[in-house]
Amino acid sequence: METQPQPLETQPVTRLRGVGPRLAERLARLGLVTVLDLLFHLPLRYQDRSRRRPLGSLLPGEEALVEGEVGEARISHGQRRTLKVSLADESGTLQLRFFHFGGTQTAAFIPGARLRCFGEVRAGVPSLEMIHPEYRVLTAATEEAPETGLTPIYPTTEGLQQSSLRNLIAQALALLASDQAAGGLGPQELLPPEVLDPLLLPSLVEALRFLHHPPLAALGLDWNERRHPAFQRLAFEELVAHQLALRRLRRQRQRLEAPVLAGGGDLRARLLAALPFGLTGAQRRVLAEIAADLARPRPMLRLLQGDVGSGKTVVAALAALQAVESGRQAALMAPTEMLSEQHRRNLAAWLGPLGLAPAWLAGRHKGREREELLARIATGEARVVVGTHALFQEDVAFQDLGLAIVDEQHRFGVHQRLRLREKGTGEGGVPHQLIMTATPIPRSLAMTLYADLELSVIDEMPPGRTPVTTVAVPDSRREEVMARVREACASGRQAYWVCTLIEESEALQCQAAEETARSLAEVLPEVRLGLAHGRLKAVEREAVMRDFAAGDLDLLVATTVIEVGVDVANASLMIIENPERLGLAQLHQLRGRVGRGAQASHCLLLYHAPLSRLARERIELLRRSTNGFEIAQKDLEMRGAGEVLGTRQTGEMQFRIANPVADESLLAAARQAADLILDRYPDRASPLIDRWLGAREHCGGV
Ligand code: ADP
Ligand code: MG
Repeated sequence: METQPQPLETQPVTRLRGVGPRLAERLARLGLVTVLDLLFHLPLRYQDRSRRRPLGSLLPGEEALVEGEVGEARISHGQRRTLKVSLADESGTLQLRFFHFGGTQTAAFIPGARLRCFGEVRAGVPSLEMIHPEYRVLTAATEEAPETGLTPIYPTTEGLQQSSLRNLIAQALALLASDQAAGGLGPQELLPPEVLDPLLLPSLVEALRFLHHPPLAALGLDWNERRHPAFQRLAFEELVAHQLALRRLRRQRQRLEAPVLAGGGDLRARLLAALPFGLTGAQRRVLAEIAADLARPRPMLRLLQGDVGSGKTVVAALAALQAVESGRQAALMAPTEMLSEQHRRNLAAWLGPLGLAPAWLAGRHKGREREELLARIATGEARVVVGTHALFQEDVAFQDLGLAIVDEQHRFGVHQRLRLREKGTGEGGVPHQLIMTATPIPRSLAMTLYADLELSVIDEMPPGRTPVTTVAVPDSRREEVMARVREACASGRQAYWVCTLIEESEALQCQAAEETARSLAEVLPEVRLGLAHGRLKAVEREAVMRDFAAGDLDLLVATTVIEVGVDVANASLMIIENPERLGLAQLHQLRGRVGRGAQASHCLLLYHAPLSRLARERIELLRRSTNGFEIAQKDLEMRGAGEVLGTRQTGEMQFRIANPVADESLLAAARQAADLILDRYPDRASPLIDRWLGAREHCGGV
């Protein structure tokens, strides 16, 4: 009987040997539903289990396959109950250590037994050791050869062993082979030849085979660099799929209606006339871009990038006025309460004289106060609203929100962006969105990650700034640094002292700031010192910041809460403790708090010796460059996109195989390919998106 081979796309994983409902459920957690999904489940890395390594040749830090004879197995009762097994071969010895073990294990380790182990080698006493290696007791009957290729390590989930994933994927590869032998085509080639041919990359099937089962000859490749054409082939397809997904988002948005906010220009003209400065050329350019978008009946979604201090706030204020001129409300949101306070202050100073003092809604507004604010927002009495994430909350209803401005976007996820958009009332259409960020993402990368957004860049600083001089000082010279602070304050200038700690612990960070403030107050009794951190009550913190801004305080000891936004032109000295703990982009942001006035400014990076080579390189780069874009590019190269853009951001932009920084050479081609596919092969867009983004994109709620 002739049966047409069923395409792998439609064959469920349960078709494979050993897959029952329980295993299928675990596989589904990884998004693996069909045999084809398994083929696209790509290894994270590889291990070499092909060669048995003599124990005497091992080095700490490497993973190795070893064999040896059990000498002694002994349970020690130190701090932790430990099973220690000594292993020896003709070249040396190795100790195995187990913290979790049962009777069967202990019984298997009889002197003279032969073990094959795989694990990471560590330095130990008295010999090198492996902690919880994978192991097998060898008998004459199980004497099998080591593996013949590199062993792939797959992303997995609880209750799903590497070995069973490997087994299933091997079955999937076998099905692929028999499918092809029977004349089937395997996974559909979704990239058209006019895209693929010029790139000289292997076919999809070749690439998949290679990546799941690379020959030993590939050992010399640096897997982390993923330069092999098989990686490039799949990375490219994945980048194309992302481009298509983002374009689809953009198209969907283009089908929505938005209020036309042409604005009469009168309010903007009055603010411009009242400002103590003229706009830079870059500010004028981005304002024109925004103004044109707002005047269209389609929702704007524009990312405004501008280095710290480049003057984004006034751009936001002018955009808000355009909305107000058009009879709509505008909202400005910041990631922290402190920053939203600052926006409130700025906008109050600029818009107050126009009779448009902003309403401020923060998490701490409770009860009656909150209800009154909500009522003013809902009735439209409040034309401009400033707030934090609280503005996203369900009970906040605007009367006719026309423009939502989100500051420091790298702290907001796409989901929040989407939720905010829903705040628009049905009849008037969805509000326009302006997203501002001081994290300068190199343009090519921004176009990849934010292909659904329009981009505006402020690439010019307001005039009259003196670049900040940055020096690195070991903390053994702390006294000198304090003397420097004393001098600066004595001569009428102001200074910041920034305490950093491991980011996750805000409590510890605040505590460190408190201690530092105490010790500085002791050493510098004549200096008027204030303390600002996230645990202070907002009113107290605001009072401190106001005093500092007014010049009634000389020194502000703070946590990284001042990273964004704080603006005091007379502050010209900044000390940053433990700069090695922060990312380059963040250090650059912090440093941007000084150098806002005319006098020469200094930033002292008070590090704790010894520095790693990487830390030295990073500090050196900061000393050399004050260009946020250059720093961001380097930061990306050194740490990868995940670190720089924040986990939240990349969490929803997870690439399976592509690395948008390392694969930069593919980006332009991927964008062109996406255009071509939408143009000539529109039917292939959905299958490509499904293949690479699968369930995630659908869960995204778009
Ligand atoms: P950021 O882009 O980091 O948010 P801000 O909006 O806080 O920067 O602006 C930094 C400072 O520069 C503020 O004091 C602001 O009033 C001022 N500023 C903005 N634009 C100009 C300009 N064109 N000329 C002079 N000063 C400006
Ligand atoms: Mg700002």
